[in-house]
Amino acid sequence: MDNVVEFFRNLPKKKCQECGQDMLEKADCYGNLCDECDHPAR
Ligand SMILES: [Zn+2]
Repeated sequence: MDNVVEFFRNLPKKKCQECGQDMLEKADCYGNLCDECDHPAR
C-alpha cells in the first residue's frame, strides 16, 4: 500500500519565496513562505 506515498511524491513541490526551501503541503495556509520565514514568533 504505497499509494499515499506515491500520491505525495507526485505532487508539485512548493518552495518558499524567501529562502527557496521546499515546503510541505500543509503550508498552504502560509502562502508562499515556509515555517521558518513565516514564523509568528520571529
Ligand atoms: Zn523560507
